[in-house]
Amino acid sequence: MRRFLTAGLCGAVLFLCLSCGQKTVARGNVAHAASPTVAPTSLETDAPQQMTAVDPEVEKLGAVLSSLSERAKAAIPNGDPKEFLADLHAVLAVEQTFRSDDLSLYYLIDKKHYVGSDYEPKDLMPVKNNDLWNVSRNDLSLRPEAYHALEELSRAALADGIKLMVSSTYRSYSYQERLFARYVAQDGVELAERYSARPGTSQHQLGVAIDFGSITDDWGDTKMGKWVYKNAAKYGWSLSFPQGYEDVTGYMWECWHFRYIGVEACEFQKKWFGDIQQFMLEFLYAWENYK
Ligand SMILES: [Zn+2]
Repeated sequence: MRRFLTAGLCGAVLFLCLSCGQKTVARGNVAHAASPTVAPTSLETDAPQQMTAVDPEVEKLGAVLSSLSERAKAAIPNGDPKEFLADLHAVLAVEQTFRSDDLSLYYLIDKKHYVGSDYEPKDLMPVKNNDLWNVSRNDLSLRPEAYHALEELSRAALADGIKLMVSSTYRSYSYQERLFARYVAQDGVELAERYSARPGTSQHQLGVAIDFGSITDDWGDTKMGKWVYKNAAKYGWSLSFPQGYEDVTGYMWECWHFRYIGVEACEFQKKWFGDIQQFMLEFLYAWENYK
């Protein structure tokens, strides 16, 4: 199915085809962009079609969206490109407030995008047992932004009578190397690749990811798991590997693994990317690297 972002342009409606990035402009009694419902096929047959000058940013948006995977495109709802761009700029404005001496909190890391063996987040903060949360081991740490966001998440959980259990956080390259090797020895490389990251490709090396609770599928059905799933985004935490998206994320479902990206990015992800973190981060990567 072809999908479109629509934009009002002085009485005309702009359609950005997400499949090919092409624009068409229809005039006349077409509902303005405020209406999310459009009928692109009838518009495409309207004659004569006219091309008008297009905002370069809208043009860039069309090009970037068209470069995304088919599944990402399918997840993006119809909407007004101007509204999309306003939301995007809000997310990018927040990025400008991130510390400049470390990687962006939107940094794309996956099977194709990685960090070096020497990358370690700045000012890692130890995550120990305290009044807000429990830990399952004593060598945990997080980037400061993630640490403070965990404090907020944990306070909210406590207010609902739930004390979070933090089970895994920052992992160094060498730790991940040993972990992956252990899983390969245990299950073979093909299966290990589906649930464990090769060194340099793990969100855990960024110091912004947490594995909660038992790190098993049934954690998602516990009181804690349900609470985190429902409330994480309000505090900037995003589920990284949702169920049914292994072809997108490269990993099997991990109900326990959340990454801190900030509240605005969580909202952007939910509104425009079907709430799939990977789609949103891939879009930001493509947007920021567009030439
Ligand atoms: Zn994890």
